[in-house]
Formats: sequence, C-alpha cells, structure tokens
Amino acid sequence: MAAKSSETKKAVGKKLPFWKTKTMKEMSKTEWESLCDGCGRCCLNKFEDEDTKEIFYTDVACRLFNTSSCRCSNYPERTKYVKDCVVLTPAVMPKMNCLPPTCGYRLVYEGKDLYDWHPLISGRKSSVHEAGISAKDRAVSEVTIDEDDLENHIVKWPMSKRCKKI
Ligand code: SF4
Ligand code: SF4
Repeated sequence: MAAKSSETKKAVGKKLPFWKTKTMKEMSKTEWESLCDGCGRCCLNKFEDEDTKEIFYTDVACRLFNTSSCRCSNYPERTKYVKDCVVLTPAVMPKMNCLPPTCGYRLVYEGKDLYDWHPLISGRKSSVHEAGISAKDRAVSEVTIDEDDLENHIVKWPMSKRCKKI
C-alpha cells in the first residue's frame, strides 16, 4: 500500500506538458511553433470538394518545399513568395479543416493527445520521418509538373493516421 501511495504522489506531482495545461492563445511563440511535427503534409497541394467540403491531398508540394529535407526553404519570408501559405495562429484554427489528422496543431485544437512519434514526445525531430508520417522523399515539387496534371496526383496517405512503427 505504501508503495502505491508513493507512486500516486509521483504521478500527481508530475508536470503536465504545456499543450495539456495551456490554451493555444496562452502558448509562447516557441511553444506554439513546437506543436508542428515537421511532417510537411500541409505544404502539399490539395483540392476541396465545394459541396461536401471533403479534402483531397496530392503528393505535389509547394514550390518552396524542399522534398528531401521536408522543410520550407524560406520559412521566415514564406508569405512573401507564396500568397496562399496560411500562417497558423490560434485564431485561424477553426477554419483549418484542411490540416491532416496527424497534425500537431489539429490534434491539440481537438483536445487529443500527440502521437508518440511527435518530436515533443520522442525528443527527436527525425521520429516523424522514421514513423512514415512525413512527406520527406514522397512528394514532387509543383515546379516539376503541369498544373493540369495535378488531379492525377491525388493520394490518400496525407490524410492517413497510419504509420509504420518507429
Ligand atoms: S501538417 Fe501540421 S504538423 Fe505537419 S508540417 Fe503542417 S503544420 Fe506542421
Ligand atoms: S511557403 Fe513554405 S510553409 Fe508555406 S506551403 Fe510552401 S513550403 Fe509550406
């Protein structure tokens, strides 16, 4: 009994992570940015069905997306070069139904836990790639394809929650 009581105290005393204790508006800039798991899925071109609002992702990435590093090649100035790049803030979250179901922002907004492969849990940025979640080496740049060909690039994996084990 004594051991159990001590374990309970430890659990109660354990500090909960910021994304479980703060609202999105209360997070610091660093905390907010760290919610991004670096999957790059939101940098893929997508279509929205006007009637059903269903989102269809393609494997065609924004021209600033580096398909090898899985990073934006000019993150600080991204909106200057890509007018439809949405800067995520707590205020825009209610309208962001296009974010993939694995997105750290979407999960926290919906009151769900982050996945084990999220860098905030694993402690490693590479775990999102190792888990098979990211767009790293899976996308093609939009500069390499004809815009009329975009519909032929519709794929299901960016809206999938499945991943291979780390
Ligand atoms: S989908 Fe979400 S978690 Fe993934 S890169 Fe975009 S903002 Fe970050
Ligand atoms: S500008 Fe950068 S962050 Fe925005 S969609 Fe393109 S690659 Fe992604």
